[in-house]
Amino acid sequence: MKVAIVGGGAVGVTAAYDLARRDEEVVVYEKDDIAGGSTGRAAGVLYDAFAAPEDARVGDRAIERFREFSGEGDFEFRETPYVWFAHEGDERRAEAIREQVPRMQDAGRNVALADPEDLRERFPAVDWSDVGVAAVAENAGHTDPASYAALLARKAEDAGAEIRTDTEVRLDADALAVERVGRAGEDEEATGDSDESESFDAILVAAGAHTKRLLAVAGIPVPLKPYRVQALTAGFDAGRREDLPMCYDATAGYYLRPHPEGLLAGDGTEEVESDPDDWTREADREFCEMTCERLGRRLGEFGAVREAWAGLCVATPDRDPLLGELREGLHVAAGWQGHGFMRAPALGEAAAEAVLGENPLPEFDPTRFDGDEEFDIAEGMSVE
Ligand SMILES: Cc1cc2nc3c(=O)[nH]c(=O)nc-3n(C[C@H](O)[C@H](O)[C@H](O)COP(=O)(O)OP(=O)(O)OC[C@H]3O[C@@H](n4cnc5c(N)ncnc54)[C@H](O)[C@@H]3O)c2cc1C
Repeated sequence: MKVAIVGGGAVGVTAAYDLARRDEEVVVYEKDDIAGGSTGRAAGVLYDAFAAPEDARVGDRAIERFREFSGEGDFEFRETPYVWFAHEGDERRAEAIREQVPRMQDAGRNVALADPEDLRERFPAVDWSDVGVAAVAENAGHTDPASYAALLARKAEDAGAEIRTDTEVRLDADALAVERVGRAGEDEEATGDSDESESFDAILVAAGAHTKRLLAVAGIPVPLKPYRVQALTAGFDAGRREDLPMCYDATAGYYLRPHPEGLLAGDGTEEVESDPDDWTREADREFCEMTCERLGRRLGEFGAVREAWAGLCVATPDRDPLLGELREGLHVAAGWQGHGFMRAPALGEAAAEAVLGENPLPEFDPTRFDGDEEFDIAEGMSVE
């Protein structure tokens, strides 16, 4: 089978690897570099703490594969527990955590409610004094997302896939073909017209924030909305870093994790639809100031901000992804609500299986929507 994959992010390159190792003929089209989209901007927080059976299955498989790939190339999965919590007095989120944990345990996840006293002993780098209810997920860790994508792209190539970077394409959905979009000064006119077209037996669109636009141009509406989120890195004492878990403060709505050069923290979600070609790449000053204030309260001393940036996540009406066949031979894999990287090893694999005619995740069938649904963007990590 000859398969085109549009998008060289974590999901696209994983699908490419899983198809190529099954001896399918694969071409990946990436308009930028590998991980040039959201993957290269992700925070690299990974966990399997999901309650719905299909999400738990995906989370389980993703962590299994992160462990399997760790140590290959520059990719390293650094095992680190993930703690999420609500402040004292935040009864709504406290109740949500109390309710989530047994459901996650029923789904086989290694998670448990944690007493703030125990957290103080186990993770002394963090001030837990305002925490009312907390939970810990043990199957968790962090990594550099670009190193994962680079490894999987290399493994895909080793297995026979062809990867074309700096190659922007558009779709001809009826002909199951992709056409290269020309760039001014190169082999085509500045109009973007192209006569380079290649036909396939199947096309997988894993184009992240551009998925909706790419499909819309081909006349296929899908209910996806890109939205902007932000993150920063800052210095943090190497000795105290050993005692730092990954945290999500559900009341304040930010997360943090250890980072090889200190720590990484993120939030800044804008619950409005972004234009995937026109958005502010730099972090907002307010985001940096608010995050530093929160980090100071939670960790006491930490170092200067090193880098701060924004990127796009993609929302769906029901917060579940669109993964599977949209129409004959045309597949989609997008809409991860900020949880696309941590699930990429499983989602990419499932997308590859769907291309081969299997139905690994019927819950995420993209045809459950008409495509013109009205919906509000709901932040992916929020505990409600
Ligand atoms: C600041 C930030 C922090 C995040 N933190 C986390 C986290 O800790 N954990 C987590 O799980 N997720 C996180 N995410 C979300 C995560 O980045 C995404 O869910 C994930 O990377 C999506 O991968 P993807 O392969 O689907 O998309 P992408 O990585 O966006 O890949 C899509 C690719 O398609 C390419 N493309 C688009 N259009 C075309 C075209 N016409 N032709 C050719 N190529 C095209 C793009 O250039 C892009 O490289 C974060 C996101 C941001 C922005």
